[in-house]
Amino acid sequence: MQYRYSGHSGLQLPVLSLGLWHNFGSVDRHENARAILLRAFEAGITHFDLANNYGPVPGSAEITFGRVLREDLATHRDEMIISSKAGYRMWDGPYGDGGSRKYLMASCDQSLKRTGLDYFDIFYSHRYDPNTPIEETMQALVDIVRSGKALYAGISNYPADKQVECYRYLADAHVPCVLSQYKANMLFTEKLEQNLPLAQQHGSGFICYSPLAQGILTDRYLNGIPEGSRAARPEGYLQREQITDELMAHVRKLNEEAKEQGLTLAQYALRYLLRQEGVTSVIIGASSVEQLDKNLQTISNL
Ligand code: NDP
Repeated sequence: MQYRYSGHSGLQLPVLSLGLWHNFGSVDRHENARAILLRAFEAGITHFDLANNYGPVPGSAEITFGRVLREDLATHRDEMIISSKAGYRMWDGPYGDGGSRKYLMASCDQSLKRTGLDYFDIFYSHRYDPNTPIEETMQALVDIVRSGKALYAGISNYPADKQVECYRYLADAHVPCVLSQYKANMLFTEKLEQNLPLAQQHGSGFICYSPLAQGILTDRYLNGIPEGSRAARPEGYLQREQITDELMAHVRKLNEEAKEQGLTLAQYALRYLLRQEGVTSVIIGASSVEQLDKNLQTISNL
């Protein structure tokens, strides 16, 4: 594994991080989830990315992670960077969604209970909430850090102007934004153009999610939609209709380019992101140890 400093901080992250959005919920096989987590850690993936709502059911990915931590990795806590987030709808009523202090504080406590952790390494505001003053959301992050419930603060999915407001607020409070999390991949480069330069200017690390476009930038859909794939599963966020002929024609071209360089398409896509200046890490997902192992080979081709 290779590690990079996150922005101007002293925190190093593995270039490949593992996300638990899909494949770690209560609908998934625990033994498979456990095997992926253990293989990841063994390979030097020290960063695990969670959110309150990951599952399904929402919250169950944190429970799965907590169980593996307790049963298999308890003595390794200090070798890991574990993040969680609050921002999207998690529970009913006005306090289970958005960016209010009430929601962030309560959700952080719930996430700590589900994972069994004493603290998160990074706690994020998962999204910008236009109905909450940004100062309120950022102060909640500051207080989560000050109270010891997280070591660092992060933001995700904020539009560019709001992103800069967050950096300023957090820096003034001496809890600098350690990491900014945005969707980025070869098929979706907008955030690399808009948000990455701002993160760099303000000394925040930058971590890309869905680097494989949920599996589209792999060999998964080159010959149709296989059973068991994210696009085929009812709970998957990727919809069948998104796998269009036009998109796949483009993906096949990328696949040819990858082959010419002796890479798999997934490795080519991950390398593309990791070669962008200012990118700290990419958060990959995996539904099997085999996928993870293949993606890990990217490291030797950087
Ligand atoms: P990816 O783009 O890496 O997609 C992962 C999926 O691609 C896998 O589940 C698998 O799908 C397929 N795949 C991966 N490797 C291979 C391979 N070698 N061969 C074939 N198929 C492969 O990432 P995700 O979309 O899963 O997102 C990663 C993480 O990013 C999340 O877990 C979460 O932590 C974070 N995230 C954050 C968001 C935010 O708002 N901040 C939003 C979304 C994600 P299959 O199931 O078909 O096998």
